[in-house]
Amino acid sequence: MIANYHTHTWRCNHAEPGEEQYVRNAMKRGLQILGFSDHTPYPFPGGYTSSFRMRVAQLPGYCQCVQELQRKYAGKIQLEIGLEAEYYPKFFPELTAILKDTPVTYLILGQHFTGSEMDGVYSGSPTENPGVLKAYCSQAKDAMQTGLFTYFAHPDLIHFTGSDKVYREEMSGLFREAKSCGIPLEINLLGLSDGRHYPSRRFLELAAEEDCPVILGCDAHDPDSLLDTAMEARALAMAAEYGLTVLDTVPLRNIQTLLR
Ligand SMILES: [Zn+2]
Ligand SMILES: [Zn+2]
Repeated sequence: MIANYHTHTWRCNHAEPGEEQYVRNAMKRGLQILGFSDHTPYPFPGGYTSSFRMRVAQLPGYCQCVQELQRKYAGKIQLEIGLEAEYYPKFFPELTAILKDTPVTYLILGQHFTGSEMDGVYSGSPTENPGVLKAYCSQAKDAMQTGLFTYFAHPDLIHFTGSDKVYREEMSGLFREAKSCGIPLEINLLGLSDGRHYPSRRFLELAAEEDCPVILGCDAHDPDSLLDTAMEARALAMAAEYGLTVLDTVPLRNIQTLLR
């Protein structure tokens, strides 16, 4: 790996503090690019507060922190300011309004809920309900069609335990859309090290069938995970088994340019 675009900070309430240590470890690892992509703030109505993302009021501090590190480590490592965002159709226009004219450069898609977390279901909960799978795929397709997302994080977060035929149909359609939008799919190294249901073999198989390029993402929630080269080796071996094209960098879709 020479780039990791998937890095969290303490602001999401479930990652370790010390942004600078993430940078130091990334350099120690030999990365040339480190992108911070903490869970985006989301402007929810009615005073609803999300437990796993920064507050809207924390966004300036997040950006400032990475900007200071950009200055401090200029010429040593390329640091980028991004966010991991769900596409919640009802609230997305307000989100982009908040992100416009900020230093946030890129978004990765992490569709953690279908509908939204206020009214929908967690994508990672096991379900036999084809309706949930279809909602996930349709929402993620709409997300990719906005043109604002640089890549699709853990696309196999959706934990469908029903018919394999239905899974194949829906997910193949989703990956075809990713391919036609030019959006790489992530092999998530946190899921791998944690023994989660993702990255899944059926995802790799279908991604290969649809000829989708993939990118490794650390999904770092603590600085030390950036030093875990064993996960990189395992993921690369899995990707090779399926003949997948692994990208080492991806061009960032600059949301500031796109939202202008
Ligand atoms: Zn995620
Ligand atoms: Zn993440």
